[in-house]
Order: sequence, then structure tokens, then C-alpha cells
Amino acid sequence: MRVLITGAAGFLGSHLCEKFLEGGYQVVGMDNFITGRPENIVHLLGRKDFRFVEHNVTEYTYVEGPLEGVLHFASPASPIDYLEMPIPTLKVGSLGTHKALGLALAKGARFLLASTSEVYGDPQVHPQPETYWGHVNPVGPRGVYDEAKRFAEAMTMAYHRAHGVDTRIVRIFNTYGPRMRASDGRVVSNFIVQALRGEPLSVYGDGGQTRSFTYVDDLVEGIWRLFHSDRVDPTNVGNPGEFTVRQLADQVIAKTGSASTIAFHPLPEDDPKVRQPDITVARAVLGWEPTVSLDEGLDRTIPYFRELLQGVPACTA
Ligand code: UDP
Repeated sequence: MRVLITGAAGFLGSHLCEKFLEGGYQVVGMDNFITGRPENIVHLLGRKDFRFVEHNVTEYTYVEGPLEGVLHFASPASPIDYLEMPIPTLKVGSLGTHKALGLALAKGARFLLASTSEVYGDPQVHPQPETYWGHVNPVGPRGVYDEAKRFAEAMTMAYHRAHGVDTRIVRIFNTYGPRMRASDGRVVSNFIVQALRGEPLSVYGDGGQTRSFTYVDDLVEGIWRLFHSDRVDPTNVGNPGEFTVRQLADQVIAKTGSASTIAFHPLPEDDPKVRQPDITVARAVLGWEPTVSLDEGLDRTIPYFRELLQGVPACTA
């Protein structure tokens, strides 16, 4: 059994490569390193069951040999990245998804799309079930990511309906853990890095907005189960534990024992006010639910950043 994972050198992609290798698959990893990092996969390079291809999936994509699965995880995913790279973000979600689906069709492979809670936009239904169609500003700064992923979902369903490709769509909620970049820009990594450096924690807005944070191992287990299930409709995979950004800041300060204070910054445009997955479907269909609390996940993530920060220049907030 052999799978292609696009975005293999990214935070999630690299964990997913390991999961599939552990599960007995041969893995072909693909990345163009626009946000992925060679360090994330260097330990896999010597293995006979792992092959790496440096390639932009937005361009014509072909892989020699059989493939039973294509998992499309390539995309900038941090707001600061997709704001800096709006066109590559739109292209990998649209053209890249098309190329990856075309390859899955040609190989008779199952296809799994990494979608996102951002398809719900700034939600008016809370928590968000898969049946909610969302509340997205297509022309705002986040539209480049949100609409690319919405298009990717539509394209995935079209390949399923028109070409009979066996497809899966996972809607991923805010995920954190080892292998995030210090400069990733997302809230968990920013706060930990700032706390460890004794810098003020950059809270956007009044910090009253909420997110639900999933530890990477839980997410990867959910994706593994979804891939091996027969569920075609989109599926939320996320931890329903909901926290305000301010609560997260206080928790990170307490856990790191940092003397950092809080600095308030303007809220980015269209920043969703609330976010929490309804995981009724994942529980029922995949028998999945998260097992790692935010408290425990932070305990596993902080040591990774402590080590990473030795010798890394300051991050942006
Ligand atoms: N945020 C923050 N400080 C930061 C980074 C993010 O207060 O340094 C806030 C951001 O405004 C949002 C939440 O934390 O409300 C989650 O942001 P993130 O970029 O992690 O992901 P998002 O859920 O917005 O995609």
C-alpha cells in the first residue's frame, strides 16, 4: 500500500507521513518548502519505505508507480502566511487540489482533502456542525484561504460525483504541537515563544474571541480513521474544548512560569469571534474523540519550543 502526501514537510504533513509509515504504508512525500521545512522530514529520508519529491502541486503532478491514497495537505495555513502569499494559497487550494484529484483518478487512489474550520468563516451557528454552510467574506483578507478551501471541497465532491473518485474531506480545527515553526504566527506558537522569551504575549482584540485547540496526535488519529472509513461527506476533526484567547495567554504564562505580560494589538479583519467543532459525526462514524486536553497538550508542546528556541531569531507577532 502506497500513499502520496502533499505538504509532507509541513507541520501536519510530516506527522501524517509518520502515521502512515507506522501503519505499514509506503509514503511518497511532496513539498515545495514555501512553508514546510526539510527538518520536519529529514529523519525519514534514509528509509526504504519513504521517498521525497520536491515539487509544487500547483504544477502538473505525476508520481511513478501505484498509489492507493492521495492526501492533499499542501497549503499555507497560518493567517500570516496566507496574507503574505495570497495567490499561492488560492492556487494550491484550487489548481493544486485539481492536480491531486487528477492523480488520484489516474491511479484509482482514494483521495483525502485537508479542509478547515475556516470554511465556516465567522460562524453564526455555534458550535459548528458539518451541515452549517458558513459565513465567509469572499473578498476579505482571509477569503484567499477560506474560498480556496471551499473551492477545494466543491472540486473534491465533483470528482467523487462525476468521476467516482473515492474521496474524504476532513475539516481541521486549530491544531498545535511539536514541529510548528517559531515564526508560524498562530496563537499557540506565538504565545509559547513569547512567554519563553519573556516578551509580552500579543493578544489580538480584547482576547474574548474563542478557539478550540486540538493536539496534533489526536488530529492525526482522526485523519487516519477517516481515511480508512467510508465517510464521503465532510467531517469535523477537532477538540470541542473551547477557550478564549485571553484564557490561553494566561495558561501559557502560568505553564511556562514566565514573567511575560500581555500586550493588546488590533484584531485582524474578519477574525472569527467563536469557533468550536460539533464532533457528533466523528464520534459516531469514526469512533473518534480527542484524548489530549489543552493542559496536557501544552505540557507536550512547550519543551519542543524550549529546545527549538536555542539559537533561533525573534518571531513576528
Ligand atoms: N491571535 C492572537 N495573538 C496572536 C496570534 C493570534 O491573539 O499572536 C488570535 C487571533 O486573532 C485569533 C486566534 O488568536 O482570534 C487564533 O488565531 P490563529 O492565527 O492561531 O488561527 P485562526 O483560528 O485565526 O486561523
